[in-house]
Amino acid sequence: MALNLIMLGPPGAGKGTQAERFAKSKGIPTISTGDILREAVHTGTELGKRAKAIMERGELVSDEIVIGIVRERLDRDDVRAGFILDGFPRTVPQAKALDGIMAGRDPLIVLNIDVADDVLVRRLTTRLICQKCGTNAAVEDAAAGTGSRCGKCGGPMVARADDNATVVIERLKTYLRDTKPLVDFYGARPTYRSIDGAQAPDTVTADLEAAVAALSKAATSGARA
Ligand code: AMP
Repeated sequence: MALNLIMLGPPGAGKGTQAERFAKSKGIPTISTGDILREAVHTGTELGKRAKAIMERGELVSDEIVIGIVRERLDRDDVRAGFILDGFPRTVPQAKALDGIMAGRDPLIVLNIDVADDVLVRRLTTRLICQKCGTNAAVEDAAAGTGSRCGKCGGPMVARADDNATVVIERLKTYLRDTKPLVDFYGARPTYRSIDGAQAPDTVTADLEAAVAALSKAATSGARA
């Protein structure tokens, strides 16, 4: 069975870090709509020009644009054994579109990383990303501070443009209004699990591993029933 995963959760919950770890251990690609959009902004494509100001305000890029990105990405051969979506879906219409894209494929496993608001604000206003390849610093790397180098490509680590306090508050508001309803959208599915994201990153990874093992078992027997 293909391992088709979604990482849900507020900004700063650790979705990117956990998705990267998981992707590496399972040999499947991570698809981060935020990374794809930041790359487009960085290289100045038409998409990047449309997305830049929206992202800087902490608002959401239109459903139509991100659904198009994900539809095209999930059409590629490298997702046959599975994928991890990080930062998508972020609205109910995106989740409904994803259900359409997934028709006839193995079921989605939905992992929600849950973290309290005050912890998120602290994490977001102190985290760093690589200016060159856009990789999020793992929480433990971020402690090294600005001026440190990316573990992946050696680029300089800097604060993300949308990680200043004002935009962080806006992004959390956007999350509560548009994305949190996805917990209800997916919550009743047998392939949904919520994990305590306030724990140490290694503990969160272990919890996620255990949840995925249990849920893929449930999904396999569900598919057979
Ligand atoms: P992220 O790196 O996931 O925090 O995303 C950074 C920014 O990219 C968000 O604040 C949005 O402006 C935009 N973005 C990323 N994913 C989506 C999505 N699924 N829907 C709409 N906007 C998105």
